Amino acid sequence: MSRVFHRHLKASYPTAVAGDGPYLIDAAGKRYLDACGGAAVSCLGHSDPEVQAAISEQVKRMAYAHSSFFTSEPMEALADFLVDRAPQGIGSVYFVSGGSEAVEAALKMARQYFLEIGQPERTQVIARRQSYHGNTLGALATGGNAWRRRPFEPLLADTTHVSPCYAYRGQRADESAEAYGERLAVELEDTIERLGPRRVMAFVAEPVVGATLGAVPAVPGYFRRVREICDRHGILLILDEVMCGMGRTGSLFACEQEGVSPDLLTVAKGLGGGYQPIGATLASARIRDTIAEGTGFFQHGHTYIGHATACAAALAVQRAVEKRGLLEQVRARGEALRARLEQRFGDHPHVGDIRGRGLFLGLELVADRASKEPFDPDRRLNAAVKAAAMDQGLMCYPAGGTLDGRRGDHVLLAPPYIVEEDHLDEIVDKLDAALQQALGQVG
Ligand code: PLP
Repeated sequence: MSRVFHRHLKASYPTAVAGDGPYLIDAAGKRYLDACGGAAVSCLGHSDPEVQAAISEQVKRMAYAHSSFFTSEPMEALADFLVDRAPQGIGSVYFVSGGSEAVEAALKMARQYFLEIGQPERTQVIARRQSYHGNTLGALATGGNAWRRRPFEPLLADTTHVSPCYAYRGQRADESAEAYGERLAVELEDTIERLGPRRVMAFVAEPVVGATLGAVPAVPGYFRRVREICDRHGILLILDEVMCGMGRTGSLFACEQEGVSPDLLTVAKGLGGGYQPIGATLASARIRDTIAEGTGFFQHGHTYIGHATACAAALAVQRAVEKRGLLEQVRARGEALRARLEQRFGDHPHVGDIRGRGLFLGLELVADRASKEPFDPDRRLNAAVKAAAMDQGLMCYPAGGTLDGRRGDHVLLAPPYIVEEDHLDEIVDKLDAALQQALGQVG
């Protein structure tokens, strides 16, 4: 038995030993096409020579320099790269080692900002149901995913959750997309009024919801209304782009497509593309300057902040994405994959919705298309799809919780930006076979 404390303690996993472009290879030589980027992590695939070289050059120079003693060239260069391209108003970057840490840092920056400006009563966070913002206690408290939260609830800070922007299930048949977005905006503002506007610190949302809903973008105009409401009440807007950011949806930052700039923006997975663990919290110049000119000290920190090897890897990944024109490729291949999915599964009796943006696409699985009735969660369709896909040599990310609790299944596809047309065919063929196998098993 493995002595590693794995997440699924009863599962046995193949041993990954090598990467080859968008494929991972196990110890028996079996190849798996990574159609989900792990969890939307991999953007350059698993064996990019330029990134490998950048990492080895950096690690040969030095192992580690603590961020309370030194800055480093890769950290400064990566900060410049990100801020130069970031949404309007963003003025600095705080580096961490992953997505949950980025969300924690954003929450603490928001809190400290209000302390610095003399509004200590702002402690309330509003987020959305069916959202995921990470697994550390602060991030878990923010997320609205019922089954992930439940066991830890007594330890979680008080957060108020409003409806997600989830047109497939939320928009009424007699309602336009604009009217639906407006209804949600009104719900948010009513919630703020109920809590007391001067008690609310931040509204947190993913521009395109990943893990819990399976690549669900908001309806047009929703985020602009959210921005207006936050501004009206002096509330900070935190956009969590840990999964959907860094090019995944076809623009470097997903919020560019909403025409909205947040006060705080979190990124992680695609930042280092899996070559090194790294995340970042981008902060507005206003927040940075307020803290700089106030106490001058952000009361936070982790040992591996801004690790030079991680920053060198992320810089190499981001430069490669830009130099090779991969955002255009994300848009083109994303459209091509979506067209193939619609062609293959558009009339499938158990595929209720196909959605997403760029190379961030989701299929919602339903027991009945007409009523949108989900599968019984006890049948564990998710697990069956994942296992069947792995049999086929395909990695896809099937998850539950599109409805409250564990109910509601989807498959998330987020292949690396380097996929070619024939990889798209392989994804659709293997997914089709995996769905058939899994649906056959769960009945
Ligand atoms: N935020 C979002 C939107 C995520 O999708 C995730 C992970 O899936 C996280 C935060 C947490 O990131 P990590 O797993 O790197 O801590």
